[in-house]
Amino acid sequence: MTQTGTEPAPTAAREPRSVLVTGANRGIGRAIAERFVAAGDRVATLYRSGDLPDGVLGVVGDVRDTASVDAAFTEVEAAHGPVEVLVANAGVTRDGLMLRMSDEDFDDVLDVNLTGSFRCARRASKGMIRLRRGRIILISSVVGLYGSPGQVNYAASKAGLVGMARSITRELGGRGVTANVVAPGYIDTAMTAALPDDRQAAYRASIPAGRFAQPEEVAGVVQFLASDDAAYISGAVIPVDGGLGMGH
Ligand code: NDP
Repeated sequence: MTQTGTEPAPTAAREPRSVLVTGANRGIGRAIAERFVAAGDRVATLYRSGDLPDGVLGVVGDVRDTASVDAAFTEVEAAHGPVEVLVANAGVTRDGLMLRMSDEDFDDVLDVNLTGSFRCARRASKGMIRLRRGRIILISSVVGLYGSPGQVNYAASKAGLVGMARSITRELGGRGVTANVVAPGYIDTAMTAALPDDRQAAYRASIPAGRFAQPEEVAGVVQFLASDDAAYISGAVIPVDGGLGMGH
């Protein structure tokens, strides 16, 4: 078809995909879910509380509980078909210096951020293997590879996601499944708003871009990794951090 200069480039018609984002009630997860809804996909979330963006199917659950994850996937599959794109986004912090960090604070963070992502990826992989295609996107953090004082638990959980994505890539890469890590820097959400003002200012000064990012800037990268253009990217760690973690 001939195009005039003012017409937008035609986009190839694509079947809507079944997308599951954990924790889409707020912050980065919400922006990611909104982005997939806008692209015409069938979007669902496993979430604990709060309200959801328009067009997102919500299933209440908890990533710390295997039965809850399984039940949520079963419900989403019944409504939207097998999950083709998983975004493991749910995450928590329990900051404190290592010397004073309790076993409970360490275990709780690992249970949500690392084991929770594993529970979702394992469950999602069943359908993806059958479909012979799938995208697993794990939301890590710049501190996973950069380190952060007071975040031994959080950084360990986020670094673990890199080994997870790379192992999934080696297990399932031949079956049309990609697994990648997105490592955001400081994003304007409730998680960073909770930081004291002086720490926020210090972080801002250390970021080459000189600012925090908006959740939508992470969502765009996630959407790219789920797109056809990213079919040959797997086991990668994609920073969205304004240059903060360069070289790490
Ligand atoms: P928020 O604290 O705003 O949101 C966290 C989300 O995770 C909420 O939806 C929360 O649900 C959900 N969640 C927490 N625990 C569970 C659970 N056990 N089961 C199901 N859902 C759960 O965080 P952000 O949006 O800022 O962060 C999203 C992800 O991005 C996290 O993995 C975080 O580590 C990562 N990240 C964030 C950065 C930032 O600067 N903000 C930087 C780097 C990484 P509920 O509302 O019910 O608590």
